[in-house]
Amino acid sequence: MAVGEFELIEEYFRQGGGGLGVALGIGDDCALLQVPAGRQLAVSMDTLVGGIHFPKNADPELIAERALRVNLSDLAAMGAEPLWFTLGLTLPEADKQWIKGFSEGLFRVANEYNIALVGGDTTKGALAMTIQVHGAVEPDKALLRSGARAGDLIFTTGCVGDGAGALAVIKQELEVGKSAFNYLMQHYYRPEPQIAAGSLLVGLATSAIDISDGLLADLGHICTESGVGAELRLEQLPLSDPLKKLVPREQAFDWALAGGDDYQLCFTLPKQNLPRLEQLIDQHKLEAHHVGEVVQGSGITCLHKGELFEVGSHGYQHF
Ligand code: ADP
Ligand code: MG
Repeated sequence: MAVGEFELIEEYFRQGGGGLGVALGIGDDCALLQVPAGRQLAVSMDTLVGGIHFPKNADPELIAERALRVNLSDLAAMGAEPLWFTLGLTLPEADKQWIKGFSEGLFRVANEYNIALVGGDTTKGALAMTIQVHGAVEPDKALLRSGARAGDLIFTTGCVGDGAGALAVIKQELEVGKSAFNYLMQHYYRPEPQIAAGSLLVGLATSAIDISDGLLADLGHICTESGVGAELRLEQLPLSDPLKKLVPREQAFDWALAGGDDYQLCFTLPKQNLPRLEQLIDQHKLEAHHVGEVVQGSGITCLHKGELFEVGSHGYQHF
């Protein structure tokens, strides 16, 4: 974007300054960054395209919040501490009001999670943004997808299913009252990356993943990478009160299992670490719900009160 690009960057993106290990931030050809001594760099990138990953006419503050939050969620899933991020922003026009709102939402989240914007690129085209996050982990301590073992317990850090519920509302497939609407939109645009939980799980959990594509798909990645299977007990799934009131239980299960956009962590825990996890839960340092077991073999079995539950077979509306 030629006209006003530098002014826009100066005014709306060159702020916050500082940041751990930032020797040189925005303004030169590259940023210069010092990885904290003795730590590994965890790097992840996500692209959000207008009209696909969020409605094009959504509030720019919320778009920015969501974009950075879902990226932070990947750092959380590795047990990494946020350090820096870069932003590739493609805009159809240089609408100052839009960019101002976007920048406000972006820095609100950046400040909350202590992550510094250190560079990026701004181009003209269809609305899209790519964020790359960088975090620090202790060498060989990152939470991988590949460490689950038969006998481990499976947990989620918070409620599942709200993301899919919110999407149904956004797509106007589900009509809800004001308070449920506000709850679901808050959840969709401002998911809480489980950074604190991720770092507490380092050394405790054998594997972890953030739930972006639904529990079945994401736990499925853990199973595949670890060479194990899983059994889920649906009556133990943490469902939010608003979701339970909105739709029949089977629909909520379907959303929790096959929906997405929840951004909680799913992790596996060896039984001998249960007392330590329970201690963290009692101390309110961590929320975690036991939802199943890792088993030998492959694939995921869903049981509801001991009966086999087939996802998506209940004749309710889908996505
Ligand atoms: P170059 O032409 O060398 O790629 P740019 O004009 O694209 O440089 O960028 C100038 C500076 O502004 C760089 O430090 C770059 O990282 C930063 N920058 C550009 N766009 C953004 C953005 N959307 N967010 C943050 N920093 C940006
Ligand atoms: Mg550039």
